[in-house]
Amino acid sequence: MIVPIEIIEHLSTDHLGAQYKQIFEYLNDKINISEFDIAAQINKTINETRAILYQLTSFNLVSSRKKKDPNKGWYVHYWSLNPSEIIYFYRKSLTKQIEELQNKIYYEKENEFYKCQGCGERLSIDEALNISFQCPECGSYLEPIDNSKLIERLESRLIVLKEKMISSVTITTKIKIRIPQLN
Ligand SMILES: [Zn+2]
Repeated sequence: MIVPIEIIEHLSTDHLGAQYKQIFEYLNDKINISEFDIAAQINKTINETRAILYQLTSFNLVSSRKKKDPNKGWYVHYWSLNPSEIIYFYRKSLTKQIEELQNKIYYEKENEFYKCQGCGERLSIDEALNISFQCPECGSYLEPIDNSKLIERLESRLIVLKEKMISSVTITTKIKIRIPQLN
């Protein structure tokens, strides 16, 4: 295995979608794999497989070499992962998530929030002021809520993301950058 499974899972669930996970996992310890073998492995038609591979190419996460099939006379693409680009993409995605979370934590800390006792609608103090603390949906009065538990949860998620970021540096130095070659 070249790219750690947690990175594959992160990218497949948070960014690209589950259909990519199979391709990442299959190609992870291989090099120059025919698109027909990939299609057979992931149980999709060759056109569906190519569409997925081209999408991954647009993010530079895979690359291919083409070679003429000596028997059939047409060109076949042979695919490999780009581990260093995958790590780069992963770090970019972590950076974005960390920034978003930091902004959210800041917003939660800097604002007061109110909740409707009737329907549970959550509003910031500015929104609550605008409607004189009376819910437009159900008419009930809004009560101030304590968001400290939410902030704690967001902060522990932030710690996890920052730890992932730190360990990704170690991963980057461990990964051997392979240059796909085809004879
Ligand atoms: Zn309400």
